[in-house]
Order: sequence, then C-alpha cells, then structure tokens
Amino acid sequence: MTNAVQNSDVKSNDQFDAYIVGKKKNRVLAIDRDTCKGCKVCISVCPVQALFMSSIKSSRGYYYPMETGDCTACKKCVEKCPNFAISLHKLKDVMT
Ligand code: SF4
Ligand code: SF4
Repeated sequence: MTNAVQNSDVKSNDQFDAYIVGKKKNRVLAIDRDTCKGCKVCISVCPVQALFMSSIKSSRGYYYPMETGDCTACKKCVEKCPNFAISLHKLKDVMT
C-alpha cells in the first residue's frame, strides 16, 4: 500500500482527503481522489455508514467518498476498493 498521507499535519492536499478517524483518533483514513473511479463499493461495504459521495467531481470527473466522522477504522473499504484508493494509517506514522 502506498504511504498515502505525507503531509506534516495530515490535512488534505490536492490529491488526498485525509481524515483523523472519527471513532479512533490514532488512525488516519486517506482517500485518493485521483485514483477513485466513483464505483461506491466502499460505501456499500461500510458497516457504519461512515462514507458518502461528494457533491463535486474529482479532477478525473468522478464523485468520490468522504468521511462522516463515524469511521471505526475497520478496513473493509480499504480491502474492497477495486482501485486501492482508500488507505488507513497510524497517526504517528503520518505526522512529522
Ligand atoms: S470503492 Fe474505491 S473507487 Fe469505488 S468509490 Fe470507493 S474509493 Fe472510489
Ligand atoms: S474503515 Fe470501515 S468504518 Fe471506516 S469508512 Fe472504511 S468501511 Fe467504514
């Protein structure tokens, strides 16, 4: 898996939306907008409805998932995304 979040402060950047996981503050969920193809698989597999689709399109022309604050870092979306567009990281690994 790529080390998706490399910002010093884990804020989102031009390519990634990075969220400190709502229910597990020591994890970061990173969504690669440029890799996502808007298939919504992640939304369908999330057991706590922690993802919803954006209302604007990415630079590649796709809607992409955003996090509600209810994520528990269960990894289901990470494992099921066919494009490997979502990743989970330990907060300490993405802080510099
Ligand atoms: S499963 Fe992956 S490609 Fe499909 S919408 Fe979610 S992040 Fe995008
Ligand atoms: S890690 Fe689990 S809880 Fe968090 S958004 Fe993905 S499927 Fe939902």
